[in-house]
Amino acid sequence: MPIRILSEQVANQIAAGEVIERPASVVKELIENAIDAGATAIHIEIRGGGRRLVRVADDGSGIPAEEVELAFARHATSKLQTIDDLTHITTLGFRGEALASVAAIAHVTVQTRAESEEVGTRLRLEAGRVARREPLGHPRGTTISVENLFFNVPARQKFLRSEATERKHIGDLVTRYAMAYPQLRLALESDGRLSFRSSGNGSLYDVLIEVYGLETAQAMLAVGEETAKAVPANGTAQAVPTNDHYAGTVSVWGYVSRPDTHRATREHITLFVNGRWIQDRGLTFAVEQAYHTLLPADRHPLAVLCVALSPEQVDVNVHPTKSEVKFQHRDQVFRAVQRTVRQALVAQAPIPEVRRAAGPWAEQGWSDRHGVLVGVGAGAAQAALDLARPAGDGAIGRWQPQAPAEGQERLPVLRVLGQLAQTYIIAEGPEGMYLIDQHAAHERVIYEQLLARQAGAALVVQDLLEPLPVELTPAQADELGTWLEPLREMGFQVEAFGGHTVLVRSVPAVLSRVDVRQALTSILDELAQGEDALPSTGRLLDPDARLAAVACKRGATKAGQTLAVDEMQALIAQLEQTAAPRTCPHGRPTMILLSQAWMQREFGR
Ligand code: ADP
Ligand code: MG
Repeated sequence: MPIRILSEQVANQIAAGEVIERPASVVKELIENAIDAGATAIHIEIRGGGRRLVRVADDGSGIPAEEVELAFARHATSKLQTIDDLTHITTLGFRGEALASVAAIAHVTVQTRAESEEVGTRLRLEAGRVARREPLGHPRGTTISVENLFFNVPARQKFLRSEATERKHIGDLVTRYAMAYPQLRLALESDGRLSFRSSGNGSLYDVLIEVYGLETAQAMLAVGEETAKAVPANGTAQAVPTNDHYAGTVSVWGYVSRPDTHRATREHITLFVNGRWIQDRGLTFAVEQAYHTLLPADRHPLAVLCVALSPEQVDVNVHPTKSEVKFQHRDQVFRAVQRTVRQALVAQAPIPEVRRAAGPWAEQGWSDRHGVLVGVGAGAAQAALDLARPAGDGAIGRWQPQAPAEGQERLPVLRVLGQLAQTYIIAEGPEGMYLIDQHAAHERVIYEQLLARQAGAALVVQDLLEPLPVELTPAQADELGTWLEPLREMGFQVEAFGGHTVLVRSVPAVLSRVDVRQALTSILDELAQGEDALPSTGRLLDPDARLAAVACKRGATKAGQTLAVDEMQALIAQLEQTAAPRTCPHGRPTMILLSQAWMQREFGR
């Protein structure tokens, strides 16, 4: 075929493919336009999963009659003029592509009236060409109807999923905008049925109840600064803060799930940057890292987090769908997210409580139980937080032992009553009976002691009377090569001896009572497996933390070991000193509470 310049229509159809991938993309662009137009209420109606119809009605500024055609021209926008404007974009749209793209591949009708006009406009476009125009009575605002999407793009039609799937995409999208803009009244009607609505009362928590249901919402913790919620200017859904709003700082706020509430996938981690829903693997990872050692392996938290920073520090022009951004100071944003979430988790996470699967107790809310719960203060929270830093950030975080500040909540005072099944310590506390898993609790203690040692704190290293030769398998020797230095910092002095044999000269004191040979080889075996029993982020963890998590298993008191009362008391005293006494480093609980309230209920008292 000879080279030819494509007709405008074909060029538009091709370009539209970048912006409009599926019906949900249409909904997204129209919602964004409504928000940019200052809407306080947006009504979305879809039919046939959005293929047959997407209609979005808003009460925003409307489009002046003489600009209506222009709105559908490619690269036509009221939001940006020069390339410099891109550095301080405070609207969701700026590319001037969405309406042109939608119009190229569907039948579009717009009905609109601007504030200053008495009569509105109705315009009908088919495959990008104006088919009809007439004056129209319309309340202030804009209603755009998109019918027969992809009618002239057979290639795209083939890739569309079932109506149900497209409906789900649209539902997810609408609920996300509802969470990002709690002050916006959003409603979604699907094939004549109202499937979602938000009240627009400004409370993100109320939106969470609408989206996830009361029970899950109650299992979420508020994080971050309340003050940041003051972002929206002039009471409407102003998309993005202005530059001076957040000069040089990163604000993070929202809700995250308690460690006992989790999901099988990451899809419930929702992130907004300056009011824009984005997909960002790095920030998603930051959220997950904040749950480091608090979640079971392969489980993921729920989170709805709003990040706000000066628009100058965000490049929004990365992708035609505007769902990715680039940060000028990526690490700063990453750390702000991780720290905010971690602080909330460490400070507020409860001891799991025994309760029946159903019945009134199970329905009791988080706040009711708050008094029962145990947390640690900000100093320790920060310490725990520093364990985990972004992968590839160079500087590896270190645990800094810190004395808890005055007046902090600690573990309750526990009185040891005895041991059960040579596995659990039975203790009495102010709220009831605690069962403490001796192995998990000891793991937590040793884990933090090992990391404290690496951070330069005093932890006793035990020199062996005589260097102990240990013969390694080739795989173990290989693994040792990469871990020699972290092991040494932890207190394991290991030297090459010849062949695959090494000499162990010292061990961390916390491991001195175990078989050194066995401890070293099993640590190396486990490290060699790569994926250890840590949460799924394990591979990317700070290597020191990973080593400690593997090593603490070896040193910890096993289940099946009889403990004297003073040993149990000592263990609980040590557990109290840790930053996260409620979970072991692998995410399992160290203790459960059988509260008096529960007992009374069970006994019918
Ligand atoms: P962009 O949003 O990037 O500017 P669009 O193609 O989405 O590009 O929209 C083009 C223009 O049409 C916008 O800049 C805006 O001026 C106008 N517009 C679109 N939708 C609306 C709406 N719902 N209310 C008011 N004006 C709108
Ligand atoms: Mg737009």
